Amino acid sequence: MDVRVGVIGVGMIGQDHIRRITQVLTGGSVTAVNDVDAARAGQVAAGLPGAHTHDTAAALIADDEVDAVLVASWGPAHEEQVVAAIAAGKPVFCEKPLAPSSAACQRIMDAELATGRRLVQVGFMRRYDAGYRAMKATLDDVGLGAPLLMHCAHRNPSVPDYGFTTDMIISDSAVHEIDIVRWLFGEEIVAASVLTPRRTSHAPDGLQDPLILLLETASGALVDDELFVSARYGYDVRGEIVCETGTVALADVSEVTVRTANRYSGRVPVDWRDRFIRAYDTELQEWLDAVAAGTCTGPTSWDGFAAAVVTDAALEALHTGQRTAVSLPERPEFYAK
Ligand code: NAP
Repeated sequence: MDVRVGVIGVGMIGQDHIRRITQVLTGGSVTAVNDVDAARAGQVAAGLPGAHTHDTAAALIADDEVDAVLVASWGPAHEEQVVAAIAAGKPVFCEKPLAPSSAACQRIMDAELATGRRLVQVGFMRRYDAGYRAMKATLDDVGLGAPLLMHCAHRNPSVPDYGFTTDMIISDSAVHEIDIVRWLFGEEIVAASVLTPRRTSHAPDGLQDPLILLLETASGALVDDELFVSARYGYDVRGEIVCETGTVALADVSEVTVRTANRYSGRVPVDWRDRFIRAYDTELQEWLDAVAAGTCTGPTSWDGFAAAVVTDAALEALHTGQRTAVSLPERPEFYAK
């Protein structure tokens, strides 16, 4: 039987996840939706045979026809909605960030720990990207020696002229590298520094773009992350890990390359949806499969919490210009697997 999913927040990514559950993936259906914009919720439900709308997230979570909850509302609403799903004993997929502050993430962890059962998966979709998965398998299986360095780049063509702040380059963009570095290296990040190079003339007024974020891992590996959100030419995510006896790097993602007239070219993705569309598909398929099997896999509440703590340190480093230590408590044994 299909996992019956209730979706809270049917904006851009909420609607995209509904499309993939109903048109691309197997084993799931969308039976209920909720959004603070009731008209938007109604429009989305109208395209979903049998689905109904709820006036509140709490009513959706309590619906007997909802087996599992997908939270795609804006970040400040996540804590209340995820905690309510945990209290109802329902598996919940929460888009990143798990919550905007580490204190709120801690409260979600406390609620989950109190049930004694893993219920929460956080939407760090890069862990489901074929390139990053191959990179991790290489590190784990090929024997390149200890990883020493990682070079990352995260380039977007542009951001909106208004409303996108320099802090968001860390909290919205770099958070993906923060998570993927923790996952690839299998260890925590212990310090962050931020460098502010010459500013591009293409950045909106007031935005410091690009930035370099430096992360230090517990074993002493160093990660440099170039964050450049006004790069103009396309969406380009790069990564190379330098180990003692070799390196492993993400390959270019162009489906084909062209050689003509003494030139060589390939395709650069248009945006993050284009680049990571298959990762989102795999992420949600694995969530549906885990829910159907009565298990919970993927990034945990602890991962959401740890990413929030590192993000806080990186923001402090941005504001003070100082290297900032990450103060992460001991990971609860519950999240060890
Ligand atoms: P969006 O287009 O603004 O959609 C959010 C929707 O949630 C809007 O319809 C909004 O209504 C609604 N909403 C806000 N507060 C709510 C509440 N308390 N209860 C129910 N609905 C509420 O934003 P988005 O781009 O889809 O992003 C949603 C979440 O996904 C964010 O946490 C974002 O960081 C995350 N995200 C993750 C990725 C990724 O790569 N994993 C990519 C994109 C987005 P109003 O418009 O009326 O406020």
